[in-house]
Amino acid sequence: MSTYLSQGKALQIRHYKDSSLQDLVAHLRPAKPLYVMFPKIMKQSAQAFSSAFPGTALYAVKTNPDPLAIKALKSGGIRAFDVASLAEIQLVKSIAPRAELHFMHPVKAPEDIHAAYFSYDVRHFVLDHEDELFKIMRETELAQDLNLTVRIALPKNETALIDFSSKFGASLEQAIDLLRKCRPVSRHLGLSFHVGTQTTDPSVYSKAIAYCAALIKQSGVTIDNLNVGGGFPVAYEGDDQICTMEDCVDAIKQALATHKLSHLKLLAEPGRVLTARGGVLVTRVELRKDDMLYINDGVYGGLFDAAKWVGTRYPVSAISCDRAFDGSVQGFRLAGPTCDSLDMMSGPFELPSDIGIGDWIVFENCGAYSQALRSDFNGFGHADIVSMEA
Ligand SMILES: *Cc1c(COP(=O)(O)O)cnc(C)c1O
Repeated sequence: MSTYLSQGKALQIRHYKDSSLQDLVAHLRPAKPLYVMFPKIMKQSAQAFSSAFPGTALYAVKTNPDPLAIKALKSGGIRAFDVASLAEIQLVKSIAPRAELHFMHPVKAPEDIHAAYFSYDVRHFVLDHEDELFKIMRETELAQDLNLTVRIALPKNETALIDFSSKFGASLEQAIDLLRKCRPVSRHLGLSFHVGTQTTDPSVYSKAIAYCAALIKQSGVTIDNLNVGGGFPVAYEGDDQICTMEDCVDAIKQALATHKLSHLKLLAEPGRVLTARGGVLVTRVELRKDDMLYINDGVYGGLFDAAKWVGTRYPVSAISCDRAFDGSVQGFRLAGPTCDSLDMMSGPFELPSDIGIGDWIVFENCGAYSQALRSDFNGFGHADIVSMEA
C-alpha cells in the first residue's frame, strides 16, 4: 500500500492483483465512489496506437494526468507528451525526465513560456495568433532552436462529441500569414488541428488533411511536420456503428498519400483512445424513485461526460453482494449526489429492474475525462483510487 497525491488530497492507493472487479467490490463494499485503474490496459492501448500510427504519438495529458496513467503509457512506448500548463509540464518531467514535451496550448502565460523553455527544456510550442508568436519569441529571448506549430481551425465537425475548432485555431488566411512569419524563427515548422473529440467518421481526418494540403500550397512555405491531433474514438453504449482508431489511421495514411504529404513527419495527440478503457468507476445507489437512481457520484465528480451537455452513455453493469438480480433489465436515469439539479444523467442506462439501495453501478471506459474533471463541489469530491492487474 502506498500513498500518493491526487489533486492535492492524500489518497490511499492499493494495488490489487488477480482479483475480479466483483471480488474487489465484495471485499471493499465501497461507501464512496471507487475509481479503479487498469494500467496494463493503458499500456496495451499505447502499444496498439503506436503500432497502427506511422508517426509520433504525444499523449494528451489532460485526459488522465494520474501518475499511474502516465507511467503505464510510458511503459507502452509513449515518449512524448502534449502538455497545456506548467503543472502538466512539471508532472510529466517528474515521472519521465527525458520525455519530449510539446506545449500545445495556443494561449500561454508569458511566465509559463519562459519557465517551459529555460527550466524544463521545452522546445515545441503551438500558436494560432501573431501576438502569441511575439510572446514566444520574447519569452524565449529570441531562441534559435524553437519548433513552432500553427494550430488551424477546421470547418465544423458535426460527427464529433465536442467540436474543437470553435475556441482555438487560425483561419486559412491567418494560418498562411503565420506560417510565413514562423518559418524564419522555427527549426522545425508544423501545422496542427483537432477534428473534435470522439469523432465518429474517419473522413474528417481526410478532409482536414486536404485542407492542410491546400493551405501549405497557397502559403508557398515548406513545412516539416503535420500533427493530426486527437479525436480517435472509443466505443460507448449506443456507439455500435462507431469507427475504430485503425479506420482513422487508415484515412490519415491514405489522405497523406493522395495529397503528396507523406514526406512530412507525422504526429498525433491521442488522449481518450489511450486511457478510456483503462479505468472504471464504481458508484453506489443511495435511493431509488421509480426509474431514477440517486447515486454517490455525478457530473461534478467522475461522470462529467454523462451530463446532458455531453451525453456519454458509459457501458454500465450492476453488482449486488447480497443477492442475485432477477435477470430483467430496464432503462434508468441517474442523479448525482450534489444538490444541483444539473447533476443528472439522462442516459438511459440499462440496469437490472430490481436494482436498489446499496447496490453498486460500474461505469466502464472511465479512464479518460473522468477522474481528471472531479471537483469537490458540495463536499462530494472524494473517490478512492485503486489499481488492478487486468
Ligand atoms: C484534449 C486534446 C487532445 C486529446 O483529444 P482526444 O479526443 O481525447 O484524443 C489532443 N490535442 C489537444 C490540443 C487537446 O486539447
